[in-house]
Amino acid sequence: MLDYVKNLMAEVRATNPNQPEFHQAVEEVAESLAIVMEKHPEYRTSKVLERIIEPERVITFRVAWVDDQGEININRGFRIEMNSAIGPYKGGLRFHPSVNLGILKFLAFEQVFKNSLTTLPMGGGKGGSDFDPKGKSDLKIMRFCQAFMNELFRHIGADTDVPAGDIGVGGREIGYLFGQYKKLRNEFTGVLTGKGLNWGGSLIRPEATGYGSVYFAAEMLNTRRQTLNGKTCLVSGSGNVAQYTVEKINQLGGKVVTLSDSNGYIYDEEGINAEKLHYIMELKNVRRARIKEYIEKYKNAIYTSIDTKMDYNPLWNHKAQCAFPSATQNEINAKDAENLLKNGVYVVCEGANMPTTIEGVKIFLEGKILYGPGKAANAGGVAVSGLEMAQNSMRLPWLRDEVDNRLRMIMKEIHTTCMNISERFGTPGNYVNGANIGGFLKVADAMIDQGVV
Ligand code: NAP
Repeated sequence: MLDYVKNLMAEVRATNPNQPEFHQAVEEVAESLAIVMEKHPEYRTSKVLERIIEPERVITFRVAWVDDQGEININRGFRIEMNSAIGPYKGGLRFHPSVNLGILKFLAFEQVFKNSLTTLPMGGGKGGSDFDPKGKSDLKIMRFCQAFMNELFRHIGADTDVPAGDIGVGGREIGYLFGQYKKLRNEFTGVLTGKGLNWGGSLIRPEATGYGSVYFAAEMLNTRRQTLNGKTCLVSGSGNVAQYTVEKINQLGGKVVTLSDSNGYIYDEEGINAEKLHYIMELKNVRRARIKEYIEKYKNAIYTSIDTKMDYNPLWNHKAQCAFPSATQNEINAKDAENLLKNGVYVVCEGANMPTTIEGVKIFLEGKILYGPGKAANAGGVAVSGLEMAQNSMRLPWLRDEVDNRLRMIMKEIHTTCMNISERFGTPGNYVNGANIGGFLKVADAMIDQGVV
């Protein structure tokens, strides 16, 4: 069956050149699915995986906008409509200078499996722009979002494609995007998720990815009759996912000692408690400043700048039991993975998408630690987006506890699916296989039912 993966990957590399992140995401899934193809040759003959790999539609467009100084700027916009077998395309928008077609295709591909795992009827998509929101005024951000939506609006809709946030796209950006969509279409629909509470948003949506990731870690720990109480945790990033990961870990009695941004990381041995987290939220969400400022207020903490010449990230080289990578892709390489294990980490729960390289993943699997891959562990965000869509359709908001309970149940169900499927296919405890195969089966069966389209 190795030949199956080898041949498939040769084809993927040849037809999608210069898209290393996309190749990486496909390879990881193909390796898990090799077992399925052996047991169920019908999936192979119907070429379902080959069809999933090819996006249903890729849209790229010019985003031209005028800034506060009257200067004309040009960015590139994207929307990848990857798969609609089980529901409308659903997935976030990322605004970051590193955005390109390959990165968005990897994210859209992963989203298909993740959304399938949530138990909700959502297909997979992703989009964004190489626009860099960092350091820009609200006015510039608004002008860019409006220009971006001036093209995107004709491709999306509440029953077609429902974007949300991702890196660089939070509540502020969703507001500007929604306002422009509404103006262009003259309709108030649930076309975007992550909306403000008083205009169609859902309670718990901002918290959902971070909370969900911690719920997933708690489920994994529960298989060893353990809890997060008293555990030391490393968290990377300091954006939406990282912030609510810290909040939930604190609530469950854990201690978080690190946070980061793209310039460096802080280490606070005493733990980032609720008061310190409140300071970080103000620092990052209101003042939009750098994490380095933390040590000016909390003098016992240590700040370390990113050194790109180093072949490992020192953030992952501290004594701890749990790690929650929550910044970006490939932030844990093989050496980082080894350092984590050496320092006593035996729970890795991915809030970010594909934060671990293929070599790093192998080390976690061989080390038999509790390793929750992003597709499963960070599915809470899109799950609550799905719940936001349901509330929008009913035109009824749910209470905080109701959404939180549903989120908790969904994360529990995803965990159970991963456990059951990994066991059924002969690799018990392998959450990577569990998530990839579990996500695949539902989409594959739907595609077979719907014929070759
Ligand atoms: P965010 O609010 O924009 O925060 C991103 C954080 O990661 C920031 O601290 C950022 O630092 C850091 N970061 C970004 N690129 C980096 C890089 N190249 N190197 C080092 N640090 C970097 O985004 P988010 O929503 O928290 O997303 C974080 C991760 O979770 C992403 O992988 C995203 O795809 C994934 N995710 C998000 C959701 C969601 O609901 N938001 C759902 C599922 C998965 P700077 O401020 O310096 O850029």
